[in-house]
Amino acid sequence: MEEREQQALDHIKRLLKDNTIPKLEGSLAENPVLQEIHTDLKAIREVVYAFSSGDLSPEIKVRGIIPGCLKSLQAHLRHMIWQVKMVEQGDFNQRVQFMGEFSTAFNNMVCQLDTTLNMLKRKEEALTALTNNLRNEVDLRNSAVEALQESESRFKFLASHDPLTGALNRRSFIDRAMAELSVAVERRVPCCMVIMDIDHFKHFNDTYGHLAGDEALRHTVSIMAASLRKPDFMGRYGGEEFIFLFNNADRSTGIAIAERIREALAASPVKIDGGQIPLTASFGVAEAMDEGGPPDENYIRQLISNADKALYEAKKAGRNRVVFFEPAVSPLK
Ligand code: GH3
Ligand code: MG
Ligand code: MG
Repeated sequence: MEEREQQALDHIKRLLKDNTIPKLEGSLAENPVLQEIHTDLKAIREVVYAFSSGDLSPEIKVRGIIPGCLKSLQAHLRHMIWQVKMVEQGDFNQRVQFMGEFSTAFNNMVCQLDTTLNMLKRKEEALTALTNNLRNEVDLRNSAVEALQESESRFKFLASHDPLTGALNRRSFIDRAMAELSVAVERRVPCCMVIMDIDHFKHFNDTYGHLAGDEALRHTVSIMAASLRKPDFMGRYGGEEFIFLFNNADRSTGIAIAERIREALAASPVKIDGGQIPLTASFGVAEAMDEGGPPDENYIRQLISNADKALYEAKKAGRNRVVFFEPAVSPLK
């Protein structure tokens, strides 16, 4: 073999095996066949090198069986990457048709993913339905509890209040008075029990009718409620009589509050059928006595009786006035 041929073969061998591409120089560069082989092999090496490092982007311009196979591999791999992206976006119909065992494993994996996701979706739907059912159940129970609480508080209100005027009924007033008087007696805080009775109410009813009388009672309660201080409270004692406990009120304060209520009533006529009908009331005030122990029903009864006596005096003296009960026993000091 000629030396030049030997050099050409060596150059091709180095092109195939060496890490770096040998230079085509000297007389070898003048050989057009070797030049073509050199250019093609150099291009193939660059493509293969890019593929081996995961870069499928190089454009294969060389012709022939090896570049042709590389082109086909490049197209398959690019298609496979696109398929994986489609699977990533939820398209589980993708199937890989080349690469033998890899294709089988990939296709099985996609099928498995599809089945698992469908199963999870069904479970999620079942859980959502269950949650909605539970939520409905809780809502139903909550509204039932609310309705119960509402009817309980309505029942409690009805049981403790006078249905006509909305004032406390006698029983509730006495219970509350007893509780507050116990504290007041223990702390030696003065209190006043007051009974009020509308003047000539029978005549009012006879003149304007019973319904107008009812309206007058409601009107009276709203005027009186607006004149009370925070610690005071009242109840309907019966008929057109009302009862009050003025908490933390000594004789002069008790009289002053009762006067204020009396004046407010006298200054607020009842509006009936477009007319204004004046209404007055009489008041009996009794200060709580120092009994030395916690007040019981008898104590309250005595206190009310004292206030009633003072009320009787107020009626006797001409009505529309406040009379204080002068106690035989000593008041709280
Ligand atoms: P006095 O100034 O002495 O208190 O005279 P009076 O007419 O107010 O006294 P009396 O006790 O004779 O009359 C009370 C009247 O109150 C009799 C009753 O018909 C009326 N009355 C009691 N409860 C109600 C009620 O709920 N509605 C109405 N409209 N009237 C009532
Ligand atoms: Mg009366
Ligand atoms: Mg009366």
